[in-house]
Amino acid sequence: MASEMEPEVQAIDRSLLECSAEEIAGKWLQATDLTREVYQHLAHCVPKIYCRGPNPFPQKEDTLAQHVLLGPMEWYICGEDPALGFPKLEQANKPSHLCGRVFKVGEPTYSCRDCAVDPTCVLCMECFLGSIHRDHRYRMTTSGGGGFCDCGDTEAWKEGPYCQKHKLSSSEVVEEEDPLVHLSEDVIARTYNIFAIMFRYAVDILTWEKESELPDDLEVAEKSDTYYCMLFNDEVHTYEQVIYTLQKAVNCTQKEAIGFATTVDRDGRRSVRYGDFQYCDQAKTVIVRNTSRQTKPLKVQVMHSSVAAHQNFGLKALSWLGSVIGYSDGLRRILCQVGLQEGPDGENSSLVDRLMLNDSKLWKGARSVYHQLFMSSLLMDLKYKKLFAVRFAKNYERLQRDYVTDDHDREFSVADLSVQIFTVPSLARMLITEENLMTVIIKAFMDHLKHRDAQGRFQFERYTALQAFKFRRVQSLILDLKYVLISKPTEWSEELRQKFLQGFDAFLELLKCMQGMDPITRQVGQHIEMEPEWEAAFTLQMKLTHVISMVQDWCALDEKVLIEAYKKCLTVLTQCHGGFTDGEQPITLSICGHSVETIRYCVSQEKVSIHLPISRLLAGLHVLLSKSEVAYKFPELLPLSELSPPMLIEHPLRCLVLCAQVHAGMWRRNGFSLVNQIYYYHNVKCRREMFDKDILMLQTGVSMMDPNHFLMILLSRFELYQVFSTPDYGKRFSSEVTHKDVVQQNNTLIEEMLYLIIMLVGERFSPGVGQVGPAEEIRREIIHQLSIKPMAHSELVKSLPEDENKETGMESVIETVAHFKKPGLTGRGMYELKPECAREFNLYFYHFSRAEQSKAEEAQRKLKRENKEDTALPPPALPPFCPLFASLVNILQSDVMLYIMGTILQWAVEHHGSAWSESMLQRVLHLIGMALQEEKHHLENAVEGHVQTFAFTQKISKPGDAPNNSPSILAMLETLQNAPSLEVHKDMIRWLLKMFNTIKKIRESSSSSPVAEAEGTILEESSRDKDKAERKRKAEIARLRREKIMAQMSEMQRHFIDENKELFQQTIELDASVSAAPDNSPPVSDTALTALGPAQTQVPEPRQFVTCILCQEEQEVTVESRAMVLAAFVQRSTVLSKDRTKVIENPEKYDPLFMHPDLSCGTHTGSCGHAMHAHCWQRYFDSVQAKEQRRQQRLRLHTSYDVENGEFLCPLCECLSNTVIPLLLPPRSALSRRLNFSEQPDLTQWTRTITQQIKVTQMLRKDGSAAADTPSSEDTEDMNIIPIPEGFRPDFYPRNPYSDSIKEMLTTFGTATFKVGLKVHPNEGDPRVPTMCWGTCAYTIQSIERILSDEEKPVFGPLPCRLDDCLRSLTRFAAAHWTVTLLPVVQGHFCKLFASLVPNDSYEDLPCILDVDMFHLLVGLVLAFPALQCQDFSGSSLATGDLHIFHLVTMAHIVQILLTSCTEENGMDQENPTGEEELAILSLHKTLHQYTGSALEEAPSGWHLWRSVRAGIMPFLKCSALFFHYLNGVPAPPDLQVSGTSHFEHLCNYLSLPTNLIRLFQENSNIMNSLIESWCQNSEVKRYLSGERGAISYPRGANKLIDLPEDYSSLINQASNFSCPKSGGDKSRAPTLCLVCGSLLCSQSYCCQAELEGEDVGACTAHTYSCGSGAGIFLRVRECQVLFLAGKTKGCFYSPPYLDDYGETDQGLRRGNPLHLCQERFRKIQKLWQQHSITEEIGHAQEANQTLVGIDWQHL
Ligand SMILES: [Zn+2]
Ligand SMILES: [Zn+2]
Ligand SMILES: [Zn+2]
Ligand SMILES: [Zn+2]
Ligand SMILES: [Zn+2]
Ligand SMILES: [Zn+2]
Ligand SMILES: [Zn+2]
Repeated sequence: MASEMEPEVQAIDRSLLECSAEEIAGKWLQATDLTREVYQHLAHCVPKIYCRGPNPFPQKEDTLAQHVLLGPMEWYICGEDPALGFPKLEQANKPSHLCGRVFKVGEPTYSCRDCAVDPTCVLCMECFLGSIHRDHRYRMTTSGGGGFCDCGDTEAWKEGPYCQKHKLSSSEVVEEEDPLVHLSEDVIARTYNIFAIMFRYAVDILTWEKESELPDDLEVAEKSDTYYCMLFNDEVHTYEQVIYTLQKAVNCTQKEAIGFATTVDRDGRRSVRYGDFQYCDQAKTVIVRNTSRQTKPLKVQVMHSSVAAHQNFGLKALSWLGSVIGYSDGLRRILCQVGLQEGPDGENSSLVDRLMLNDSKLWKGARSVYHQLFMSSLLMDLKYKKLFAVRFAKNYERLQRDYVTDDHDREFSVADLSVQIFTVPSLARMLITEENLMTVIIKAFMDHLKHRDAQGRFQFERYTALQAFKFRRVQSLILDLKYVLISKPTEWSEELRQKFLQGFDAFLELLKCMQGMDPITRQVGQHIEMEPEWEAAFTLQMKLTHVISMVQDWCALDEKVLIEAYKKCLTVLTQCHGGFTDGEQPITLSICGHSVETIRYCVSQEKVSIHLPISRLLAGLHVLLSKSEVAYKFPELLPLSELSPPMLIEHPLRCLVLCAQVHAGMWRRNGFSLVNQIYYYHNVKCRREMFDKDILMLQTGVSMMDPNHFLMILLSRFELYQVFSTPDYGKRFSSEVTHKDVVQQNNTLIEEMLYLIIMLVGERFSPGVGQVGPAEEIRREIIHQLSIKPMAHSELVKSLPEDENKETGMESVIETVAHFKKPGLTGRGMYELKPECAREFNLYFYHFSRAEQSKAEEAQRKLKRENKEDTALPPPALPPFCPLFASLVNILQSDVMLYIMGTILQWAVEHHGSAWSESMLQRVLHLIGMALQEEKHHLENAVEGHVQTFAFTQKISKPGDAPNNSPSILAMLETLQNAPSLEVHKDMIRWLLKMFNTIKKIRESSSSSPVAEAEGTILEESSRDKDKAERKRKAEIARLRREKIMAQMSEMQRHFIDENKELFQQTIELDASVSAAPDNSPPVSDTALTALGPAQTQVPEPRQFVTCILCQEEQEVTVESRAMVLAAFVQRSTVLSKDRTKVIENPEKYDPLFMHPDLSCGTHTGSCGHAMHAHCWQRYFDSVQAKEQRRQQRLRLHTSYDVENGEFLCPLCECLSNTVIPLLLPPRSALSRRLNFSEQPDLTQWTRTITQQIKVTQMLRKDGSAAADTPSSEDTEDMNIIPIPEGFRPDFYPRNPYSDSIKEMLTTFGTATFKVGLKVHPNEGDPRVPTMCWGTCAYTIQSIERILSDEEKPVFGPLPCRLDDCLRSLTRFAAAHWTVTLLPVVQGHFCKLFASLVPNDSYEDLPCILDVDMFHLLVGLVLAFPALQCQDFSGSSLATGDLHIFHLVTMAHIVQILLTSCTEENGMDQENPTGEEELAILSLHKTLHQYTGSALEEAPSGWHLWRSVRAGIMPFLKCSALFFHYLNGVPAPPDLQVSGTSHFEHLCNYLSLPTNLIRLFQENSNIMNSLIESWCQNSEVKRYLSGERGAISYPRGANKLIDLPEDYSSLINQASNFSCPKSGGDKSRAPTLCLVCGSLLCSQSYCCQAELEGEDVGACTAHTYSCGSGAGIFLRVRECQVLFLAGKTKGCFYSPPYLDDYGETDQGLRRGNPLHLCQERFRKIQKLWQQHSITEEIGHAQEANQTLVGIDWQHL
């Protein structure tokens, strides 16, 4: 860094560092004009420290500033060394009990749902964990930055305001004391001086607007001539635009441009060029020109470097002030005092005011620095918080105006502090009374909505994106209003009443502008041309919903306020009502001898509006009059006599009629905007202050009216008056076919009208309307939601209205109505309705949508049928009305109602074709049921001597009057009971008649005893029977599913069917758990199964028939037949890796012959096990390729698979594949010429022979290759020396037994493995192809063995068929592959592999025994051996060779284990070794000890050694067993098929090993001693033993995904402390955790992009290449989402392993319920990883959801 600076600068640095803070402070103490003195110092030093070159050096600047500028100030304040002074101050300090921790972006915050006064009250993690709330119901969110911890604020918490840390100790007094008493007078005076100067300096310079001049007192004589071109951030231009522009304007590289843009985005500004004025101005011109085309240009300033320097120091000074006041509350108070002191210019001239008022002019970085200072000073001091709140309120309008025009996000605006101030109840109340805050906010809001129509109502322009943006900003005022009202007063002062009512007036003004806005007229004839604007109005309504509710809550708290508010609201409504009178002429209606006057108004012809907030507010207040009983206590104070019920109901009724007409299809031509409005009108987000209140208003009005009059007006508004007042309407219409549409319409309208009547009489669950408590309302909502279907918690929450605190109140009642069903491995927890609650079900529940209603009806009827009950869904018994609404029940027995019912029943009886509907009848029956319920209730609760006024049963028994002489309603019901066409309603009619009789009986017995009724008995079934039945049912399902699949399989011809995919996945799982190991071999005697060697159990290989999934032809697998292949997927893997830092650096040179025991860089092969003909597959693949090419040309889209890389989907199961494996018979039997051998060589002899054979082949090869050059005489001499072993015929080349088609497939798979495993271009002739094939065989077996061991499953337990098929074909393929390779190549590999165990001078680069994975070595040797053996005609068999190789490798592995076994835990003394094994191993250890030159540690106990060898070798034995099993086809011994303690003995038997493994050494001691010696004397082994290097020890531990914490918030906390590694301490926006290695990455961000294969990729993709060789599993911490990545183009999201208490995940962390780790789900993810199924999972996800394909995964 120093080298970059010029020497001159370094000299300045030195001189600056020489000055002494103490001296400067001393000078200041003497100064007469301190301000001047300090300013001079600053003027002199600041430009020398800051902004001396094109790039900032923050650390250097900070050090110098601290030393030269801030140090003296600290000395001055303390009057001594601040290192002593500040701790003293800190000790004397009595800290307040506020935590006040300011949140970082992404930090977790907690709010207690039980105790927080409102949801903005939050705790930091530390406080939360130390508080009582951790055991309460809480919500967790991540902070967006800003805001602070409310711990210790007694106003924020109803209970437990202090955590343990901030708790008041008992000795302390709570009363407020002046914090200054803890400071000495001197310190106070000095602090005051310095604070005043520095705060003013910072404010002056930050708000300074001249670009090349400084304030006079900061100017210096000798001024440099350097400038900056300063680029500012805005929210209009994109990152890309800025980067592009910068590259052009200042000629920088893309990397630099990204750096500039990142800083601009973070700090709000960055200099992009440094130099003289012109040079900088030039850049400015280019930037402005380049960005001004579509939008306003980027803000750029050319600034003198000294201005920039002072501004930088100004910011530093502010942060310094913030840190100094941290030492003492007294210092903090002084700073507050300084900040709020009125300046020389009077009003609004304090430093705090000046900063606030300049907020929108400051850049982002400056804003956040001073906001932070405000938070840690003004908001932490109880006294000054109040004063600051007043300043804030006084400036409120101006600040909001600035904010609305400013383009920065709200979190960067000082206006955002409103949440900190307004949510403090005492402050809010003070501001309402003293600053009239409520009115101020509402007025400021109204000022922003200037557009009005002729009636003064809001009028919104087209809702464009820009409009929406602006409007969103305006809405923040509503949010402020909400904050102010969120905590409700407990006590009312006269002052508060007055100011609240003033605010209420302003609020009414606002609502008045909304009453009747966006009016609509029915479109007839043509469709509307342009959808009218509606969104803005609804957004406004939606935002205001909670405020409207809260205003009512306030009113409810004070009787005087309620009465006043009611009067005011009524007055305004009356004014409004005068507003729209068009087309209202009086008319007279009469039915049944009743008549009423009303106006002529048709919704279908005149204007109508959905927005009626004034009416609705009045309805709300009216209910409060009832609820608070004010209506009964002070009727004289209420304007009840002024109420005109018809006026009250008119507009809400119109609105409801509009909905009915829309349903009836009468408004089709008005387009979607209307449909949307109707939808939101009923939607849970709006209905509380819209639809619900309209129903309330009707109830209010009707309760004051003659029900007959109301019903006639209702008929008239529904435009049905004619229908019912005209006799024989039905008859007339049934004959006229032409009016079908009109009839249909009228039918719907009648249905809707009846539904409305049902609601008006039946909806009594709001407190104040019916005699219910608040819990009953929510209880009823839940019952009806769950009547539709069982629901997850979040789903249920979404269907319930939330209050301003985001609470639904559901927790209080849910347990009384529902059972919770826990989630399984997938899916969510569910709530199911308790059966006994079904009787409270109301089919005509007013919040049902039509779809919900019919679903609920179906579900409830089904339930009843299942319980063998009748299917009637009668109306439930209802709670009684409150007195104010009591008269509503009379609608049911009014003459007009009876007339309407009678008419409709008559239509039903006469069965008039279309002029009648079943729904209509159903509703009438429901209404009759309601009336009967009502009458029964009245009778049962009748008070002695009281006159019974409800006499519905009597009225319906009476026949109609002349002239119709219609039969009575009762009679008609009896007739309908037998109507064959009404089967569905029979149960209901029967119920009605039964009810009628019950009531008759009660009346007869004259209320002597209430009739108890037994409704619905719960069927009880013994749980055991249920279980049994359940099991049987599941078995049956499984059987059916299997049959179905079989049927489908045979049906499938050449095409695959998408629908079966899921079925197939299920079967695969089913197979895994149910079916035993495929037993297609004839039973062999269990006793002695041997997998290899001359003693190998001979099993006739069963003939194998396979059906091609493509052509459905069956074919036998033989050597000569056409090849059958399995779809397979080859991938690189690090799943088993013990060293993730290793990557293949240079794939062209990399030699995969030896696998290192750390198993890094493996190649895994998987298969779905679906077989096809090779030629069928080829044809299929060609067609996929062709199709893909066409598609890419057309759509330029990715698919989930990469055809160019050979990828395709299995035609049957759509499993991602990239090659095929041929199906083969055991290759050993196909190759070996079985002669009858009597004498086989022992290990020693065999090794010697092989060594000789190797030498010969090596000579020949050398000779062959040298022959072309100059033949050397030495070689020929050697030839003579080495005798060709007897029977060895190096010139013999065996014939390849396989058909051409099989040969071709051997090459295909081999090449694919080579290509994928090494990431190189395919080259079938490369000598590394065979080693890659053996490698993937060994690696795949190892990975499966690992999974089996981890799950503690037996090695030959039931394996899913796909795995079994895959391993079998992979092993046999690898064994056959040498036949398609040049013999010398394979022989060469064999020689080299062999040489790693048996020394051979020709190789120099052999790994030492510690650096070879023995299983890979075994597989390589065994599979390469035939290439040598085929030339051996001495009579030594292949099987003998296999056995000797196996023994040799096993012994090497034992030595490897002994060398690396960790001998530390050898504390316990063992008695003398007794067992044979122990003695043997001790002697072997002794030998090793000797050969290593005593470097190997002294032998621990024999028992211990033997134990560690047995444990260490188990994985190798298991892998070997699997390998030879598949290679030779010897069935697995039954003992190995079941779980047991240890299979060691069985494995040894199966593998032809002595159970005392050490006997191998003893039996072959003559050769082994020399081999051991050669192994031990390797220099690497010596280095290891002397501790110079490490080595893998055995058994290798399992690789698992990292441990995740139980509580999700600790992860959030961890991530919030994580900063981007590239951009210096910046918080990462998308911190992402690698679940494989635990690294935290800065994902999805420019700063951490890396270059990979010439492309820029995000941090996660880059990480996958090193950590997971291309595949990765991540947890996106902010989103709580698991991310799977594979390669650059593939990825998907996966459900996270964290669940809330309701068994649901929270992707995106939107709900904020506490999340806990679900082990089962995490294990499932881990299993996917261990099984190498990540890529496959991505493939399936992408196939299922095409949008995933479009995501640029590489940028994550
Ligand atoms: Zn805290
Ligand atoms: Zn605390
Ligand atoms: Zn709590
Ligand atoms: Zn075929
Ligand atoms: Zn398949
Ligand atoms: Zn990793
Ligand atoms: Zn980063």
